[in-house]
Amino acid sequence: MLSVTSKDFLQIPIKEFIISAEKVAHVQLGNNAEHALLVLTKTGYSSIPVLDIKYRLQGLISAQQITDEILGMEHIEYERLPSLKVDEIMKSDVAVIHIEEKFQKGLDLLVNNPYICVIDDEQTFLGILTRRVILKQMKKYLYQSQVQ
Ligand code: AMP
Repeated sequence: MLSVTSKDFLQIPIKEFIISAEKVAHVQLGNNAEHALLVLTKTGYSSIPVLDIKYRLQGLISAQQITDEILGMEHIEYERLPSLKVDEIMKSDVAVIHIEEKFQKGLDLLVNNPYICVIDDEQTFLGILTRRVILKQMKKYLYQSQVQ
């Protein structure tokens, strides 16, 4: 077993692993659904954060949520996209992690989420912690432990 060192590993600050806010594609409250769909399609991400004017996290929006919203009985009502606001469609109840948290907390949250938004005490959006980055770190750690 990897007991003592794995405990240390789980206590590493998540700060070291986040993708910082300036590198994260996002939309703002008040943007329309057409803009959000454009950003989601161009970046290829399944969902992106919605921020307010002060860069505080307000929710997440995905292409699936947008399509669901404009799904009519007969066809997809694309003509509604410009008048729909992201505020009406986004998911507001999202998992977040504080910037001062440790790897273990991140790992727990990433079991059920592909990524987690990282915030500070003022709810300011500082970046994201992704499943991919955490898995990479775990792989590095496990492989290193094997050769010791
Ligand atoms: P990954 O683990 O890199 O596949 O990312 C998982 C999810 O995190 C993506 O599908 C996006 O929803 C989100 N994500 C990752 N990187 C970014 C980024 N630079 N900007 C916005 N969202 C991102």
